Amino acid sequence: MTFDIVTIFPAMIEQAIAPGIVGRAIERGTLDVKVRDLRDFTIDRHRVVDDMPYGGGPGMVLKPEPIFRTLDAIAAERGRPLTVVLMSPQGTRFTQAEAQRVSRLAHVVLLCGRYEGVDERVRARVTEEISIGDYVLSGGELPALVILDAVARFVPGVVGDQQSVVEDSFSRGLLDFPQYTRPAEVTWPDPVGPAVLKVPDVLLSGNHAEIRRWRKREALSRTLARRPELLSEAELDEEEQDILRELVAERAKGVGYERD
Ligand code: SAM
Repeated sequence: MTFDIVTIFPAMIEQAIAPGIVGRAIERGTLDVKVRDLRDFTIDRHRVVDDMPYGGGPGMVLKPEPIFRTLDAIAAERGRPLTVVLMSPQGTRFTQAEAQRVSRLAHVVLLCGRYEGVDERVRARVTEEISIGDYVLSGGELPALVILDAVARFVPGVVGDQQSVVEDSFSRGLLDFPQYTRPAEVTWPDPVGPAVLKVPDVLLSGNHAEIRRWRKREALSRTLARRPELLSEAELDEEEQDILRELVAERAKGVGYERD
């Protein structure tokens, strides 16, 4: 999959993607990510990318022409991109389902705003706007990195074991089950909690059917406690539907209620 990320702070993106899963996927050629410095597409001596807003008011606005030149250069190099995404707090909320949808596209341009945002006319060349949440960041670089990382996890060959993506929180509409690693028992003096912290016996039992059922129950129990609204859209198999009925009945009786 091919990404072009347009920014005035290329180092922010380059430094963040070098280590980790995305960086390794780029080295292997599974992902092709190019970071485009908007200033390289200015034609004045001072490489100006922003200007004052018409009508007055605080802050600066990213000018349209450098952005259009960048998009034209990307089109000349790779073919006209079908998807140009503007990072914007006013966009569609980014979710795991959105990440999966975007991962099916061959080529995506991520456009990072700064200051008060981009000149409104840039939207003529934008195909969608994505927000990573209802808060305002100083620039689109962090949102672009969030989108790149979440989308890349769905691209075959990026994550070593694709099963882990299938089991991730939200992928099937459920939060992920709890994970433990060695040692099986940790003794840690703590005035407010237990000094001996144990891994649940079932995970040490070697009984794979029991472990699978325990994990389903934990994922459902967590989702019910923390994000019950997800359950109406979750894809549950028959066993999970039975477990959910048990959990709901237990909760109604006040039995086995987990605060987490
Ligand atoms: N004045 C703009 C508004 O209220 O819609 C906010 C501009 S913000 C300070 C600068 C840039 O950061 C935006 O153009 C956008 O690219 C990016 N940005 C900020 N918050 C974002 C969010 N929640 N999701 C995606 N991009 C965001």
